[in-house]
Amino acid sequence: MEHASLGGSTCYRWINCPLSVQLCDKVPRKPPGDAAMLGTAAHKLAEQCLKQECSAGAFSDEELKVDDGKGGERVFPVDAETIDAVNIYLTAIDGDTEALGSCEMDIEKPFDLGWLRKYGPITRSMFGTNDCCIYQSFGQLKVYDYKHGSRKRVDVERNEQLMYYALGRVGEHNLEAFESVELVVVQPRYEHPDGLVRRWSIEVDELQEWGRSTLAPAAVEACKPDCEAVSGEWCDWCPAADYGMCPIKTQHAIQACPFDVMPAKGVPVSPPAPKSLTQEQRSVVLSAKSAIEKWLKGVHAFEVELQRAGNGCPDFKLVNAFGNRAWLEKDPDMLAEQLDVNVADICIEKLISPAQAEKVLKEKGLKPKEAKSKLAKFVQSPKRVTLVSQSDPRPGIENPFKNVEEK
Ligand code: SF4
Repeated sequence: MEHASLGGSTCYRWINCPLSVQLCDKVPRKPPGDAAMLGTAAHKLAEQCLKQECSAGAFSDEELKVDDGKGGERVFPVDAETIDAVNIYLTAIDGDTEALGSCEMDIEKPFDLGWLRKYGPITRSMFGTNDCCIYQSFGQLKVYDYKHGSRKRVDVERNEQLMYYALGRVGEHNLEAFESVELVVVQPRYEHPDGLVRRWSIEVDELQEWGRSTLAPAAVEACKPDCEAVSGEWCDWCPAADYGMCPIKTQHAIQACPFDVMPAKGVPVSPPAPKSLTQEQRSVVLSAKSAIEKWLKGVHAFEVELQRAGNGCPDFKLVNAFGNRAWLEKDPDMLAEQLDVNVADICIEKLISPAQAEKVLKEKGLKPKEAKSKLAKFVQSPKRVTLVSQSDPRPGIENPFKNVEEK
């Protein structure tokens, strides 16, 4: 699928940090992870249901195929958890459709924000696809965004990504003369205090003004070759940081090291012994621990990509490395027969982890909360201590446990 260079899903980041767009161009595009592919599968299911006007249960036991970004496909069964989640989305749209009376519906309709170019030189693409919109001319427009993820909280009020999608639907001239726009986030697998379906309304004029005065100038800035990096909450999902490309994160990591991390060639890097550090130095290093680790990981990952492309630094090379041996034949009966042993000799019965058991319960139809509470009396978390900064909201331990393992 083609991605817009200045797309809606990343606009919170590039509106705040224009340089991130150029930096992200330079890093390899990672294939989607499991959660992203599952999200794509759930979106496909929702789209089919809306088009066929049926509930998600109609696809029970069918399979959804998703591009794995590596030239293959990943197959997801339509399980109980996905059916429940998608049905919450469908029910929200059904209820709104009924309340509006006669209305039109767009499903997975593409839009282009190219018209924003009249407000400045925007040389990168701005387009997207809306999950679903329902509307009446001279009435209300409702723009839905389905979020299958359960880890990242999505708020609806002044959510830039949703405003980008809504602006895409309204367009420049509001030809259908909508009175107002309601943005609707449906995130069924995240326990948000405002509920699974969250709504926020904005006047069409205000939305278009946001396009002219915020989105377009930010897009213009992101297209300038000499734009700047600005760090903040939006850094969390920035690919440039994953590959050690961010100048701010790099500077932060290097400054926190109480030794020269980039000595002249041939001079060994010599970190001081921890006991020689002052209290202040320990504080600086520990505060930057995750930034330093992330930067090192990023430099490593970036060099691997360069080596693969044949233009890495000459002091390093890629070699074959062998991991733990894995079975080529996965059928235990077949394997036992080939090895001339009993199946019991090569198979062990093992309890799955509590996290895996929670998944099994959810697949059997339990809601996430029910699955957690059913498991609660059978599991315990080992007590450990962990070192965090004073800004962490958890209360500090007054008498730290002795002999308790550090995490
Ligand atoms: S990590 Fe760096 S480049 Fe990415 S958003 Fe943050 S400041 Fe910008």
